[in-house]
Amino acid sequence: TEDVDKINPEYVRFFQFENKLMPSTWIVVRIDGCHFHRFSEVHEFEKPNDKQALNLMNSCAVAVLEEIQDIIFAYGVSDEYSFVLKKDSQFYQRQASEIVSIIVSFFSSMYVMKWKEFFPRKELKYPPSFDGRAVCYPSSKILQDYLAWRQVDCHINNQYNTCFWMLVIKKGKGKSEAQNYLKGTQAQEKNELLIKEFNINYNELETMFRQGSLAFWEKDITMTHENTASVETSHRKVIVEHCDIIKPDFWEAHPSILD
Ligand code: ATP
Ligand code: ATP
Ligand code: MG
Ligand code: MG
Ligand code: MG
Ligand code: MG
Ligand code: MG
Repeated sequence: TEDVDKINPEYVRFFQFENKLMPSTWIVVRIDGCHFHRFSEVHEFEKPNDKQALNLMNSCAVAVLEEIQDIIFAYGVSDEYSFVLKKDSQFYQRQASEIVSIIVSFFSSMYVMKWKEFFPRKELKYPPSFDGRAVCYPSSKILQDYLAWRQVDCHINNQYNTCFWMLVIKKGKGKSEAQNYLKGTQAQEKNELLIKEFNINYNELETMFRQGSLAFWEKDITMTHENTASVETSHRKVIVEHCDIIKPDFWEAHPSILD
């Protein structure tokens, strides 16, 4: 105990490095499930899209927005979610590792806590984990392009996965056989395959599967009736939608998100 009073190892804190994110830029934290290819198999997710697994991801994202007020928007698909912090956020003094680790750990805890709610008859076999990274985008145009990139990715993957799993499930093809069959096919050919072989109109598949999910704060105006007068009360709440964010329409309809 005497030794503890004598030593002064405090100098080690100078080994910590600065990791502050550029000021006045939109911070995007993208998290992604680790080895969810395996996780989805072990937990028998429906292929190509398990709706409850996506609903669970969305519910966790809503909880993140409610917890961290500086997050103004989120976009999710498959096992990933992108969280957008407002441009002038001072959350954790904009330190990247703190921001990323808080979001990733909170999301992961939520995923475990909410599992039973979405899969009441499925046991969670092992603890899922997520990785995360932070990137700064300096203009709303570039941020919108980032989000468009994720939605394009969602579309391309969903189109491929739908064909792949139809060939495997409905046609009994092996996985590598199905993979070879689809190698080099264009988007148009994939849509034709779905129509001709499986009578599936790609554009009629669920919007959540084709376009992913958005979570954002929206003013919710409700009318309450007190005695004879009706009173308008507005409170903010996080809502989940599925729509096109590549075209400018959504952003024009919700100008306050990126103002
Ligand atoms: P990594 O650790 O590198 O991210 P990964 O196995 O998680 O590897 P991803 O590219 O992130 O690979 O892809 C996630 C995979 O998880 C998908 O390919 C799919 O197999 C599976 N998956 C995720 N969500 C769902 C879902 N809702 N329904 C069905 N499968 C899903
Ligand atoms: P921050 O979010 O900034 O880390 P904090 O509340 O977690 O805030 P810390 O400086 O990390 O503050 O201190 C952790 C606190 O948690 C302790 O001050 C103590 O009150 C409580 N705590 C943690 N572990 C224990 C424990 N094993 N027994 C009792 N209290 C504990
Ligand atoms: Mg990954
Ligand atoms: Mg993953
Ligand atoms: Mg992924
Ligand atoms: Mg701390
Ligand atoms: Mg602490």
